[in-house]
Amino acid sequence: MSDYDFDLFVIGAGSGGVRASRVAAAHGAKVAVAEEYRVGGTCVIRGCVPKKLLIYGAHFAEDLKDARRFGWNVPDCGFEWTTLRDNVLADVDRLEGLYKNTLDSHKVELIADRATIVGPHKVKLGSGREVSAKYILIATGAWPLIPEVEGAEHGVTSNEVFHLEECPKRIVIVGGGYIANEFAGIFHQFGSHVTIVNRSATLLRGYDEQIRDRLLQISTMKGINFRFHAEMEKIEKNEDGTLCVRFKNGDPVACDLLVFATGRKPNVEGLGLENVGVELNEKGAIKVDDYSRTNVESIYAVGDVTDRLQLTPVAIREGHAFADTVFGDNPRTVDYHCVPSAVFSHPPLAGVGLTEAQAKNKLGTVKVYTSDFRPMKNVLAGRDERALYKMVVDATTNRVVGLHMIGPDAPEILQAAAVAVKAGLTKQEFDDTVALHPSMAEELVLLK
Ligand code: NDP
Repeated sequence: MSDYDFDLFVIGAGSGGVRASRVAAAHGAKVAVAEEYRVGGTCVIRGCVPKKLLIYGAHFAEDLKDARRFGWNVPDCGFEWTTLRDNVLADVDRLEGLYKNTLDSHKVELIADRATIVGPHKVKLGSGREVSAKYILIATGAWPLIPEVEGAEHGVTSNEVFHLEECPKRIVIVGGGYIANEFAGIFHQFGSHVTIVNRSATLLRGYDEQIRDRLLQISTMKGINFRFHAEMEKIEKNEDGTLCVRFKNGDPVACDLLVFATGRKPNVEGLGLENVGVELNEKGAIKVDDYSRTNVESIYAVGDVTDRLQLTPVAIREGHAFADTVFGDNPRTVDYHCVPSAVFSHPPLAGVGLTEAQAKNKLGTVKVYTSDFRPMKNVLAGRDERALYKMVVDATTNRVVGLHMIGPDAPEILQAAAVAVKAGLTKQEFDDTVALHPSMAEELVLLK
């Protein structure tokens, strides 16, 4: 008999928490998971999944136009936001059900409540019930960060966007990262007038510069507006419900909806970390070692609440590795080398490994190969949009150290190519592979 109520108590049923719970339970642990909101976390409930479904919905705007060039007699079509919104939300409900089933089938006790840590082995639930556990795993994710600006309460975040009553005619998105560029593409396709407001002139910091420039060029060509080096002064709400965004520099912008997409902060508030002395880093994230263990021996943390990579598949791996390490007698860490990532902008972009600038800094001499082409479909559709693929190669070893692309289906293509980059293949080994013709991906083995 264990001295504790549970072997593992997980706080947060998002991607990392659910994976850790399921795997720990499969290893024979008695597991409970507390979730105060909905099972699935940011990714399933208000992030990756509903966002991707909106992206699919948005794509029809251009597809329907292009269809005419391919011989289809498409009448003028209208878009109904509420239909898409409700269908997306229904799918989110379906997925939440599947997540709950997974927990249930692994005999993980789901506690719909808020949990606060009151001791190294003890949590207190919102109901007042106290529960003990040999290990506690914090998997509470991150929460949108809203900059301090007068009238910020008139804006919303990506959390609320999925529930809008109507599609805004004019939308201002603050920030130049993942969420800003993804929602800019989505709402532009739905017919909104979109303005991205960014504090610097850099979009999507961390991605390869040429690829980012191409996104800016295409976005601008499509009609998305950008305000760079913008210093917001205040946001005013007019009597008719519309907003006016005032800047310290430049003219005000009127809009119907303002979305903050200014990064996310680790969700540590109210967790009771101070009760047990769990250490945070300078960004307010929980400090962990390679095995996701905090400075308190019985307490671990995975996913966005730690300062590693804020990506769902990473949180899942961390949760899995934690469960294998602690309950599966198989200590293992997560390999963060060559993690591919994508921005589902319009068009999407994706990358793996080092950017050209990073490679030059790290390796000294690099060789860069690019293919700048107009995808076949765009040619017939009469679209000027060009795709750009870029390969960064270590000049000494000829190994491919980075692959970056923007264009239709870039994330789908890059996921497969990332296997080769992760495996350390050389440019010659890419070239030795016969092209699959006609495809966009064949450019990867034909790079000059
Ligand atoms: P990002 O970190 O991608 O971008 C934040 C943006 O906001 C940057 O342009 C940043 O500018 C700006 N910013 C930060 N603080 C302020 C401030 N105080 N005032 C004005 N601007 C500010 O964050 P997102 O919110 O877009 O997304 C959050 C995270 O979620 C991402 O980092 C990513 O890890 C994850 N995500 C992943 C997706 C995917 O994989 N496709 C999709 C959506 C989210 P600066 O560059 O100057 O710092």
